[in-house]
Amino acid sequence: VASRRTTARGVIVAAVAVIAIGLAGSVAGAQSGVVPRLIFPVLGEVKFTDDFGDLRPQGPHEGNDLMAAKQSIAVAAEPGKIKFWTTSSAAGCMLYLYGKSGTTYLYIHLNNDLTTKGNDNRGKCVAGVAYAKGLKDGAHVVAGQPVGYVGNSGDAESTDPHLHFEVHPNDGDPTDPYAYLKRAERLIFPTSPRTTITLSLGGVVTQALPGQLTVKPATLHVFPAATPTAAKRERPVTLLLPQTVHVSVGGGQVGGPQRVGTLIGKTVVILTEPTFGTLAAAAGRPGAFSIARVVLAPSPP
Ligand SMILES: [Zn+2]
Repeated sequence: VASRRTTARGVIVAAVAVIAIGLAGSVAGAQSGVVPRLIFPVLGEVKFTDDFGDLRPQGPHEGNDLMAAKQSIAVAAEPGKIKFWTTSSAAGCMLYLYGKSGTTYLYIHLNNDLTTKGNDNRGKCVAGVAYAKGLKDGAHVVAGQPVGYVGNSGDAESTDPHLHFEVHPNDGDPTDPYAYLKRAERLIFPTSPRTTITLSLGGVVTQALPGQLTVKPATLHVFPAATPTAAKRERPVTLLLPQTVHVSVGGGQVGGPQRVGTLIGKTVVILTEPTFGTLAAAAGRPGAFSIARVVLAPSPP
């Protein structure tokens, strides 16, 4: 009995030690500015490779170059405070995002053109050109809020538009952003928590359960148009399907939610109820949208 009690006490002591180490670890993690899961900093189609550390004329590359269409919207990778930076000839129009986690992010080579297609360099590093419309230097932003526009200012004038994106944990030296970008959450549209938006989504139903429908989108539109073009989305979107929603075919109704199972594999157009443009909605997280109407594409005669 004595030895068993000793064993039990040993287990408890060991467990307490493990918990204590765990707590110490997480506290140390918070202090050393652990990089959180990021919101992907550019909307729409982006191509990038792990080019951190590549030798460039000015030294090793300290970020990743996110190749995107000119004037694509750049968004805050996490909540934080913005600082405009307009005096670097190499960086061009740039900004600092001082993240809540203690990590600092650099957004470099922002747009300095007044035309959409040309490379006129006639724009200044100001809100509406380089920085998001209405954004003020020193402003606090939420994750996914627009902060700027992709361009090729500074020493990137001869290259294709891209966001040079840097991650500085604990506001220190830059670290390779690649792994963080790979697992970052992609947004359908920028976060705008005080704006009411509606989603129109066309695609094939991949899953239909009581109270929810999952659709692989082929077309996706946000009203009012938060972005010039809605981002392409590869991942399916799961939407709430209230009891009251009926499925209609060419104006006639075919039944209530009890028959949703028959929708699997079918092409539908869905209109959602208005909702606020929160981060959950902007990311298209499951259940962020409630379906107002499902229209089933009529089969050919
Ligand atoms: Zn770069």
